[in-house]
Amino acid sequence: MNPRAVNKTVTIALSRVLRTPTLRPATALHPPHARAMASKPPFKQEPHKLLVIPGPIEVADDVLYANAHPSMSHVSPEFVPVFGDCIRMLREVLYTTTGQPFLIAGSGTLGWDQVAANLVEPGENALVLNSGYFGDSFADCLATYGANVDQVKAEVGGAVSQLKIEAALTVKKYKVITLTHVDTSTGVLSDAKAVAETVRRVSPDTLVILDAVCSVASEEIRQEEWGIDVVLSATQKGLGTPPGLSVLVASQRALQIFKSRKSPVTSYYASWQKWLPIMQAYEEGQAKYFATPPVNLMYAFQQSLAHITKGTPSLEQRFQLHRDASRHFKKTVSDLGFKQVPLDPKFAANGMTALYFPDGLTASDILPRLVEKNIVVAGGLHAAIREKYFRIGHMGLSVVDKERGDVEKILKALKETLAEAKASKSA
Ligand SMILES: *Cc1c(COP(=O)(O)O)cnc(C)c1O
Repeated sequence: MNPRAVNKTVTIALSRVLRTPTLRPATALHPPHARAMASKPPFKQEPHKLLVIPGPIEVADDVLYANAHPSMSHVSPEFVPVFGDCIRMLREVLYTTTGQPFLIAGSGTLGWDQVAANLVEPGENALVLNSGYFGDSFADCLATYGANVDQVKAEVGGAVSQLKIEAALTVKKYKVITLTHVDTSTGVLSDAKAVAETVRRVSPDTLVILDAVCSVASEEIRQEEWGIDVVLSATQKGLGTPPGLSVLVASQRALQIFKSRKSPVTSYYASWQKWLPIMQAYEEGQAKYFATPPVNLMYAFQQSLAHITKGTPSLEQRFQLHRDASRHFKKTVSDLGFKQVPLDPKFAANGMTALYFPDGLTASDILPRLVEKNIVVAGGLHAAIREKYFRIGHMGLSVVDKERGDVEKILKALKETLAEAKASKSA
């Protein structure tokens, strides 16, 4: 932790105590162990290449340090409120007061399994709005649990149109409709609010499921106001924490549908029957065991959530910073001559950019040169265009902590790389 970060942490801790008496001040932005170690030099991660793939992303020193908490019993009175804090702060991130969080060791993918195993009974209909790679995978997961899956596919770089959604919902009755908020394979941002409105109007009983693995904390999501029944995510993208936790919030309506299901839940580990009492117990300050939570990761998640919900910038400012950085990033790369995968800037994600390689250049011309400049970006993922494009993340710390200068570093490296690659071709 650098001195600035220490100050920031103290400010956050104070503001928590002053403004949010319901949160337990004794928990742990300052766990006793961290205090004991504070006499040592503040923790600072070692120099490393800048990780700007669309997740995992760069993690703050104090979040990594929280992960290095001494090993704790998952049922200890010290750990219980850490879990409770994570549950409460996650609601704030999604602007919901009634949603039920599920925090379960796993990755974002486990969110699909939770939806498929708990909300869809075998033989029921599911509609997948497909704006890229992650739509294919969600559909595959739903089918694995016995759902009848239909898909509405957008063209590469597009989002599914409201008209097509309406048409599909009119033909058949669906138990769930799923959409990918930011499809990480294309950088397409779907209009979750508009889709939810359409579903409510045309097929009010259908549950709206939002795969927001790549958008939570970098794109605004108002779960309650928009009427989204499930938001599923993971820690390692906009939430700025190491990977390892499936992060899901279900509406009360989704829980009612779950409780009234006729057939048994089709998963053991992903069963809400097992996990709901655990989440409720921890939130009430009681430990309860089904399967061991990732204790250290929860300390890290608590620290990152505190930055996001109680720190500076505010949550609203955080979203604005992502929009500003994205506009600047996309304009600069367009000026350099890169074309973007999203067909319309209106539905381009704010936390990442997907770029086609310029004519005559390929991944091997660009990506290794960026690595030489200590910038790690991601290659293509969407099968139809895999060799033709690459992806750069600009979310979380890289955008919010402007003093790091990450966005400018990426842009500078990209400009130099392009010049070198072109020169090598004409030589
Ligand atoms: C990354 C991602 C996933 C999968 O998450 P994992 O943590 O890798 O399992 C699912 N959906 C979207 C939109 C993603 O970006």
